Amino acid sequence: MNAPRPDSRPPLSSLDDALAALLAQAAPLVQTEAVSPFDADGRVLAEDLVSALQVPPQDNSSMDGYAVRSAEIADEGLLLPVSQRIPAGAAPQPLQPGTAARIFTGAPVPAGADAIVMQEDTESVEQGQVRILRVPGPGQWIRRSGEDITRGSTVLARGVRLGPAAQGLAASVGRDRVLVARRPRVALFSTGDELVMPGEVAPGAMKPGAIYNSNRFFLRSLLLRLGCEVEDLGIVPDRRDATVQALRQASAGNDVILTSGGVSVGEEDHIKPAVQQLGTLDLWQIAMKPGKPFAHGRIGAAHFIGLPGNPVSSFVTFLLLVRPFLLKLQGATQLAPTAIELPAHFDWPRADKRREFLRARRDDQGGLELFPNQSSGVLTSTAWADGLIDNPAGKAIARGDPVRFLPLAELMA
Ligand code: AMP
Ligand code: MG
Repeated sequence: MNAPRPDSRPPLSSLDDALAALLAQAAPLVQTEAVSPFDADGRVLAEDLVSALQVPPQDNSSMDGYAVRSAEIADEGLLLPVSQRIPAGAAPQPLQPGTAARIFTGAPVPAGADAIVMQEDTESVEQGQVRILRVPGPGQWIRRSGEDITRGSTVLARGVRLGPAAQGLAASVGRDRVLVARRPRVALFSTGDELVMPGEVAPGAMKPGAIYNSNRFFLRSLLLRLGCEVEDLGIVPDRRDATVQALRQASAGNDVILTSGGVSVGEEDHIKPAVQQLGTLDLWQIAMKPGKPFAHGRIGAAHFIGLPGNPVSSFVTFLLLVRPFLLKLQGATQLAPTAIELPAHFDWPRADKRREFLRARRDDQGGLELFPNQSSGVLTSTAWADGLIDNPAGKAIARGDPVRFLPLAELMA
């Protein structure tokens, strides 16, 4: 029998279970919008992008040189008259038998020609003639029509998150609009009477106990990177009425309400009763470090997500739980980050009972070094790190051991 929990803390759940439960709540937004590929960076594609053309459209030369009929060139040293000149963008005439056509990179190959002799393998002779110094093979230096993309093929699948290469690819098949999921609207606020804003209180004028609100800055930035519209409601004091009031305001017109702090079950934590007053709430103690308290609920049509107040806990739970949630809302198919295996260049003998996400970075020997202070209040660790080591509960790490590394470049993108 478990001892009763006098503090009414919910039981520990695993990160995987919490993530699965959270994602089960994330019904993708149905609305889409058509945007220019110029503006599609970071957006999730809401259609299969099918090519209406072949890319390249015609066979073209991949070299500056001469277009020839390869069967006409049995021996090196053959002299051919140059019958036309084909720069990129020109529409060539069919290649006259017994001649070569001067051609440039990207220019269409004239009908009848089946090979390009690169100019380094030729010698130009007076009166518009060229000497072929190397016997060409059929097809040589020709980029075939459709070699990149065939007409009717899907170049980008629905659910892909677009980035610079995909934006270029959409343009390369002639699209001036692509259909993407609409941006999730997220209301953000931080709870805590101790919080002050940089610019409002100077470092020398801080009252005892006051700290700067750092969570507001990285959460807003992470949300924007994930394609969200952010309604920033600032700092909410540690009072039930103020919390209810802020939640009410946040729930109007937003898809998600994201808060940090106040999500434990102490007397100064007002999130739980306030959300329960207006809607429903599941509070989890997640067996992860940093992390632990995490909440999901509903207020009207809006999702409520409550993150812990400790900056590193807030940061890490955002990346591991809120990020996939927001991607799923947008219909993204790839939700889990890519993990890579790298050797530890440190010892971590005192493993925690909980699954840990250690702030680490790659050294120039291809291994990982650890930030010396792994406390969940030390935000320096996250700015120093370039990734998180996902270390199973109770697993000590010895120098040289392979560990699972999640690069922040992907988690924060
Ligand atoms: P809480 O979850 O509200 O109990 O907060 C846990 C710890 O995180 C406390 O030390 C808070 O002062 C700190 N904290 C909470 N919110 C923020 C914030 N927005 N920025 C920086 N630190 C915070
Ligand atoms: Mg607090």
